[in-house]
Amino acid sequence: METMKRRSWAEPFKIKSVEPLRMTTREEREATIREAGYNTFLLKSKDVYIDLLTDSGTNAMSDYQWAGMMLGDEAYAGSENYYNLEAKVQEYYGYKYLVPTHQGRGAENLISHILIKPGQYVPGNMYFTTTRLHQELAGGTFVDVIIDEAHDAQIEHPFKGNVDLNKFQALIDRVGAEKVAYITIGATVNMAGGQPISMENLRSVYQLASKNKIKVVFDATRAMENAFFIKKREKGYENKTIKEILREMCSYSDAATMSGKKDLLVNIGGFLALNDYEVFEEARNMVVVYEGLHTYGGLAGRDMEAMARGIEEACQFDHLQARIGQVEYVGNRLIELGVPIVRPVGGHAIFLDAKKFYPQLEQLKFPAQTLAAELYLDSGIRAMERGIVSAGLNKETGDHYYPKLELVRLTFPRRVYTQAHCDVTVESVYEVWNNRASVKGLTMVYEPKYLRFFQARFEKL
Ligand SMILES: *Cc1c(COP(=O)(O)O)cnc(C)c1O
Repeated sequence: METMKRRSWAEPFKIKSVEPLRMTTREEREATIREAGYNTFLLKSKDVYIDLLTDSGTNAMSDYQWAGMMLGDEAYAGSENYYNLEAKVQEYYGYKYLVPTHQGRGAENLISHILIKPGQYVPGNMYFTTTRLHQELAGGTFVDVIIDEAHDAQIEHPFKGNVDLNKFQALIDRVGAEKVAYITIGATVNMAGGQPISMENLRSVYQLASKNKIKVVFDATRAMENAFFIKKREKGYENKTIKEILREMCSYSDAATMSGKKDLLVNIGGFLALNDYEVFEEARNMVVVYEGLHTYGGLAGRDMEAMARGIEEACQFDHLQARIGQVEYVGNRLIELGVPIVRPVGGHAIFLDAKKFYPQLEQLKFPAQTLAAELYLDSGIRAMERGIVSAGLNKETGDHYYPKLELVRLTFPRRVYTQAHCDVTVESVYEVWNNRASVKGLTMVYEPKYLRFFQARFEKL
């Protein structure tokens, strides 16, 4: 017998506690998705089989984190767990000051209000929904300065999250550096498909920003996943640890907003981290208004402990290899089957190219929203629209933003699903792909004012 040469990676954990899943019939799903207005955000979780809606707060915690939960110091002020979290943030990310928040958008709210004066511009490497909204609510205008390749689902580029320095410079030339509040740098870039930014680009952005006295605010939500890609793809980083790479990434910024619900393997939590004492002081004061005292920021002591411990675990190479490896596994199988997805495969999700599924649907028939509903109908798998519904309305013109990409995101919670769940997912997507010709699209019948993708309702055409 020929010996097996190939060695797969496997998850660096075994399973100690399980949660049963419920399977439904197609008839049941036809009723539930209709009741949910064909919006997967409005489905009840009990009606979902494999939940790939988001990797946000859906992670499985370790026994080490659960043990930490029991050590929650639920004091109103000065909880021990706050100091543990502060120490880990300083050690792993390298910022001096910490303001905990209930999740990422809490930090975005603080920094947007502190740093943006009405009428200013905020460039960034592609928008993120909550980030841009907080910038707009603070009176700013977001300007996309990501490289063009990021807007093309099919171009292979190792660092599709990179900033186009010429676009950044052009904005400075056009409006003047004093009208640029700061630049937001996402790593990885969620809306581009979980695509990383290179260390070289981070360094150059920081140099250009600093030269113009513009602050860099890092969206560190998936920075550890980004660090994994730098280690794999960028020359000179092969032998560095994830922790070393992360520290260097953060060194090219002045502050960071963080959603612990992603990288940090918790169900709730986030923070704002800063180097500038004056900005910190203001944030520490403001957090009392919106979140809670500056030593808990809307979190229980136990939540801060779980996040502090999550930082240690999430920064392990083996963890990231299994996490990103799982996403890659699904991506490669779909590519083999000829299903159109965003290339290259990103860190946290597979993005199906809905325009390629449904060339018969114009954008206002909501191809990505339709595809997410079809996938649920086929198998009870829940995905998310990332297309015209998510892009929202342009606050100046009142018209839709028309993003180039109409995507459906299959997002993988960390340490939750097995390879067999991945296989079922691939099979269902393939089935929906094969039935694509007869699909007619949706019409929007209810549109909420903010972040409409969460609550909008649709009917079948
Ligand atoms: C999730 C997310 C946020 C917002 O964080 P929440 O914890 O959901 O409030 C900000 N930026 C990026 C890139 C995210 O993925």
